[in-house]
Amino acid sequence: MINSIKEAFIKKHASIAVKITGVLTAMGAALTLISLIALFSFFSFHVVIKELSERSIPDIIHGANFIDHISRLMSETERLASASVEPEQRIAYKNIKQEFNEISHLLNISEADSRLSEEVAMIRSTIEEFNTLVVERIRIFKASEEQFLQLFLFTENLLKLKQEIQDVDTVSKLEPWLSKAMEIINNMRRIKSVKSLYKVNKIRRSLVKDFRALQKLSLSVPNKLKSRVLDFQDAINIFLYSVDGLVNVSIKSKSTSLQSASRANFTRNLVEDFRYSNLAKFNTIVSLAAKRSNELGRGVQVLVYIFVVILVVGLLGVIVIIIHFRRNIVMRLTRLNVSILDRIAGRETEPIIISGADEITDMAQSFAYYENEVSKREDKLKEMAMRDVLTGVSNRRHFMEQAEAETIRSIRYKNDMAVLMIDIDFFKHINDTYGHHVGDIILADVASILNKGLRDEDLFGRIGGEEFAAVLIESNIEEAKVVSERLRHSIESYVLNNDGFELKCTVSIGIAKLDENERVFNDVMKRADEALYESKNNGRNRTTVSTLHTL
Ligand code: GH3
Ligand code: MG
Ligand code: MG
Repeated sequence: MINSIKEAFIKKHASIAVKITGVLTAMGAALTLISLIALFSFFSFHVVIKELSERSIPDIIHGANFIDHISRLMSETERLASASVEPEQRIAYKNIKQEFNEISHLLNISEADSRLSEEVAMIRSTIEEFNTLVVERIRIFKASEEQFLQLFLFTENLLKLKQEIQDVDTVSKLEPWLSKAMEIINNMRRIKSVKSLYKVNKIRRSLVKDFRALQKLSLSVPNKLKSRVLDFQDAINIFLYSVDGLVNVSIKSKSTSLQSASRANFTRNLVEDFRYSNLAKFNTIVSLAAKRSNELGRGVQVLVYIFVVILVVGLLGVIVIIIHFRRNIVMRLTRLNVSILDRIAGRETEPIIISGADEITDMAQSFAYYENEVSKREDKLKEMAMRDVLTGVSNRRHFMEQAEAETIRSIRYKNDMAVLMIDIDFFKHINDTYGHHVGDIILADVASILNKGLRDEDLFGRIGGEEFAAVLIESNIEEAKVVSERLRHSIESYVLNNDGFELKCTVSIGIAKLDENERVFNDVMKRADEALYESKNNGRNRTTVSTLHTL
């Protein structure tokens, strides 16, 4: 039995181990997967941060700086265009150069395309040309301003000439010339205020006409004034028509400012266009960077979702496994243990039932088997403690216990109860003559014969060396006498064949019935013993009834 349980256990021993190994492998695989996804997520985070820090953010910063410098370049160009004095022009040009330096620096550090550099170089040379024009415009403007100051000298000379002449007649003769000369000076003044070259030319033409008229008028000027008038005329002629004369300078000034204004417009438009195109480029860079980061971020988000889902599923799995383990292993083991402890403490008597087909069931079965074996051995020991070793009938202690219990029962139910004391006659002689071992055989045989001669419900036991006692339940003296005689006769007819000769023996019996005054078994047994003594005294191999019943 033990071996077959052992074999079954060894055959099945892998079941829980295999389950645990399988579950641990699955958990390990899940953890590895979670770790890999986490690693991948963190790597993706790294990529996003690297992308942001190394590309997107520098791109945006460069772009913003670039646009900033272009805007400042624009305002400085504007300042240069409107500069009317040299210091203003110098400061604007200095700032422009500085902005270009910054822009070139940005172009060097960023991965700007060559087209951008070319555009910047072109704007630079355009602004340089424009600056030359502005310088020229300021210079000519200054020269023409100085020339206009000379006009006052001419007016002053004319007034002086008029004051010097005292003679009324001379004055009236000079008057037409004087008024023409004043007209010419006023016309010269007008040149300053007109804006277009066309109007300058118109004034120039009328000045030519006026000058001819003045020359004509000079002919009628009195002789004493002629040389002064001609000097004045020459001075005006030079002032007007020389290379650096008023007309040429004015024309040059007007054309330079017109040229400068149109150049200013051109430059402004160029810079403006450049700014807009780069603004667009910058916006594209920003939106690309944002898009790139967004895409990467979304990828990372998906990974994080997957990671979280796997983590949750993994946790749920672990919880399910824990519940499963608790229900199928821990709780069953606990129940088995409690059941075993209850049994040890004697609290539980129901058989152990552990369902399933694994090691725990095997353990429960082994324990049930072990418990059964132990209880069998216990029963055997109890039985042995009750039995007489030589004869196999109840020993004195067990017989006395049963007899005392039966006495109490008989008293309570007022039942009859008879006691027989039986002693083998001359047994010492048998021992002495045939040996102790022959005596033992006879003792065993006599006990067996006497026991079989009684009813199942009667009590019987060996109470001394060759003495036996019986309790006949619900039996009176008459019935006891019949039983006693039957027993005595069966012993009489018993023969032991020993080494070719026959051996026989007899028994003497004393009978007593439980009296209503008696409370314990010893009382009635004592009387039965007295009756037995009588049987011995009266010759043995006989039955004697206690005197209490015969008197
Ligand atoms: P009586 O007729 O007066 O009873 O005579 P008796 O010889 O039977 O009585 P006695 O009391 O003198 O002797 C009893 C003998 O029984 C003594 C003892 O050696 C023997 N005896 C007691 N127990 C055993 C036993 O277990 N085996 C054997 N072989 N002899 C036993
Ligand atoms: Mg005796
Ligand atoms: Mg005897």
